[in-house]
Amino acid sequence: MPIRNVAHRLTPDQIQKNMADIAPAMSVEDATAEASRCLFCFDAPCTRACPTHINVPEFIKRLATRNIVGAARTILDANILGASCARACPTEVLCEGACVYNLEKAPPIQIGRLQRYATDPIVMTGKQVLPLAPDNGKRVSVVGAGPGGLAASAELRRLGYKVTCYDAQDKPGGLNTFGIAPYKMTNEEALLEAEYIRKMGVEFVLKARVGTDVPLSQLEAQSDAIVLAVGLGGTSKLGLSGEELDGVCGATEFIEEVRRDPTRVVLGRRIIVVGAGNTSIDAATEAKRLGAETVTIVYRRSEKEKGCYDYEYNLAKKDGVVFHWLVNPVRVVGVAGAVSALECIRMRLGPPDASGRPAPEPIAGSEFALPCDMLIKSTGQEKRVGFFKAISGVDVKGGRVVVNEGYRTGNPKYFAVGDCVNGGKEVVNAAAEAKKAAAAIHRALFGPAAIPVPQPGPRLAKPAVHPPMPF
Ligand SMILES: Cc1cc2nc3c(=O)[nH]c(=O)nc-3n(C[C@H](O)[C@H](O)[C@H](O)COP(=O)(O)OP(=O)(O)OC[C@H]3O[C@@H](n4cnc5c(N)ncnc54)[C@H](O)[C@@H]3O)c2cc1C
Ligand code: SF4
Repeated sequence: MPIRNVAHRLTPDQIQKNMADIAPAMSVEDATAEASRCLFCFDAPCTRACPTHINVPEFIKRLATRNIVGAARTILDANILGASCARACPTEVLCEGACVYNLEKAPPIQIGRLQRYATDPIVMTGKQVLPLAPDNGKRVSVVGAGPGGLAASAELRRLGYKVTCYDAQDKPGGLNTFGIAPYKMTNEEALLEAEYIRKMGVEFVLKARVGTDVPLSQLEAQSDAIVLAVGLGGTSKLGLSGEELDGVCGATEFIEEVRRDPTRVVLGRRIIVVGAGNTSIDAATEAKRLGAETVTIVYRRSEKEKGCYDYEYNLAKKDGVVFHWLVNPVRVVGVAGAVSALECIRMRLGPPDASGRPAPEPIAGSEFALPCDMLIKSTGQEKRVGFFKAISGVDVKGGRVVVNEGYRTGNPKYFAVGDCVNGGKEVVNAAAEAKKAAAAIHRALFGPAAIPVPQPGPRLAKPAVHPPMPF
């Protein structure tokens, strides 16, 4: 993607500093002090607010007595992706947003950071703390090794299934490895979590795109059930002329490049990002932290209707990202084959549209051009409709796979979880759906009484210490 004016490249040290962890690991003292603030509420609102219903007061109580293994077991039993959720979850609108301290206008308990404190010494070092049921003789294939596929694989393994998880990429983790902002979760952390699941006995087959490299008929022949966790596709097109110019790219593709190697990303000096969802904010913030001189977000609605969380919005503003509200792109302008400006039109808000939000309407004659040498499109991801069409009985509505309450599709052998079902939510939603799908598969194959029974985990030789991280 040649770019006309390339931003001055930062040194690897500067990039590492700019991409450093925004919520670093807690010390023993800080974690113990924070845990001791918890009121251990009855019917805790934080637990109810978590899509995986982690028993927050229980794990925090265990931390308060320095029982780290016990705390991790509580978390991982409810959510096997507790380590990545501790980093990636929008806690301010989930558990921490529900913490009773908010009612007193006091800072909520830092549940996410405590969760990381509890899970890192277990997950990042590969200590197995959850029991695995004996082999039950059945086999499940999981398509996609992102959060949905990883969680489904692990939950099925816990129930005694032989699990093979396929992914088209060269590394497991899906968007945990190739999407989430590096200052929230590093590649090492995402891969160590996948490794934890491999150590539970899940077999990974990478660089294997199901439907092309591995035929679906092979999976159907070898499996008692199949879980589809293929996520969403590439960035959607804007549908504007000039979109094919050099210097124009999609947000998810740009972010993948950053995750693969931030020191090799070729950046423009003046960057425009189209869209104001969480992915747009990530792309804008990452571009700014990589050394772009200006990063401007244009969005056709007003600040009030933006799709991103306030936390992400404030992060971008702090990094110097500029926002143009009520501005819609109409044409990408180029010089000698490369983008040179984005032609826009000003908008005003009209009566509500189908989404219930005021519909943006163009103001005639208000066109203007914003110069840029890189344009990042971020108005959603395409759906993998073609893939699902090849599977008889699997219906897709509005781009989402249709499932019942047990995440079973119209084809009884196939279940589906994660972004391909919910249209694109969070890691924690994929984990919650995967757990429900695993339980539904178990009931489908072993009868309605086959409800997973929680058991105590294996004892560890050296529990309750917080070892240094391996990286
Ligand atoms: C840029 C970005 C930033 C985000 N940041 C956050 C965040 O900070 N916090 C948060 O909670 N959520 C975040 N999300 C959302 C979160 O990443 C997703 O909700 C989550 O990854 C969904 O998991 P999934 O398993 O359904 O899909 P994915 O993570 O997309 O994984 C799908 C996997 O399936 C594989 N696949 C696809 N087709 C095939 C095939 N035919 N054969 C084999 N493999 C296949 C893909 O290679 C991929 O690895 C972000 C999303 C994006 C795009
Ligand atoms: S709501 Fe807050 S104080 Fe109450 S149990 Fe949850 S974290 Fe602790």
